[in-house]
Amino acid sequence: MATQVRTCPKCSRLMWVKEEEIEQQDENTIRLKCPHCHETVRFKLVSEGSNATGPKMGH
Ligand SMILES: [Zn+2]
Repeated sequence: MATQVRTCPKCSRLMWVKEEEIEQQDENTIRLKCPHCHETVRFKLVSEGSNATGPKMGH
């Protein structure tokens, strides 16, 4: 639902994670093309437990 902002591991610029542009690789991993460097980067989805609804703070 909410738009997330991640830092691109390739070019270190901020990228917006839009649901319609996400490619789900597996249960916990998404793939996304960086709008800056056009590299396809992967992000882990952090969802521990079934009550992981709020944003994670720190570790
Ligand atoms: Zn990038």
